[in-house]
Amino acid sequence: MLEITGLQAFYGEAQALHGVDLRVDEGEVVTLVGRNGAGKTTLLRSIMGLHRDVRGSITLNGAEITTLASHKRARQGLGWVQDDRGIYASLTVEENLTLPTVTHPDSAWSLSEVYEAFPVLADRRRAPGTTLSGGEQQMLAVARVLLTGARLLLMDEPSEGLAPVIVQQIRDILLRVKEQGTTVLLVEQNVKFASTVADRHYVLAEGAVAANLDNSEFTQRQDELLTYLGM
Ligand code: ATP
Repeated sequence: MLEITGLQAFYGEAQALHGVDLRVDEGEVVTLVGRNGAGKTTLLRSIMGLHRDVRGSITLNGAEITTLASHKRARQGLGWVQDDRGIYASLTVEENLTLPTVTHPDSAWSLSEVYEAFPVLADRRRAPGTTLSGGEQQMLAVARVLLTGARLLLMDEPSEGLAPVIVQQIRDILLRVKEQGTTVLLVEQNVKFASTVADRHYVLAEGAVAANLDNSEFTQRQDELLTYLGM
């Protein structure tokens, strides 16, 4: 589904990615882990087209998207779950989900399927966006992106700074998304959490892929990874 070859990224004179090779197959959940400054966010933003100073190749379903504008990538099925969650505080849950800018006719998800997968959102459909808990907000943010027609979700540390009970809810969200066949690539520093949601993991170090591990190998090497990541 997503294939990246020799990706380099720059901030002016400084180079943040030094030839990243990575692939994500349809239906997989894949994490990016690595120390601070390893280039995880830069990689995710480069895939979405939010960082454009890059060389190398990014293809989505066989089509070259390396130089494509971000909104065109979204039309081709890339969905960015924003860090600030992009929820309109003054609108209700349902209004957030049914804004014309959100709903896409080709989405693999309908509103009723979203409500079926996330019953909490159905229960709270008339509630204003602001009254949702952290986990519910994350659910709404993911649901909105699914309704845009996204087939590959990109997420930057969805569990960061959240209470364990909410991290558990985010795990359930990801597993439900995966069940429906939507592909996910996420930055995740919580190694334990990563091993419960993902099929595969890329370890980034100094702007390049240091390891590509399936989940069983990743889980076996968890202690080593925690030490490496300084946790
Ligand atoms: P973190 O976990 O701290 O977010 P990361 O793995 O996501 O780290 P990036 O944020 O992608 O890493 O940073 C990769 C490199 O690019 C780092 O050396 C960082 O200092 C540099 N960098 C990131 N953003 C900028 C920027 N806006 N301007 C200049 N350099 C940047």
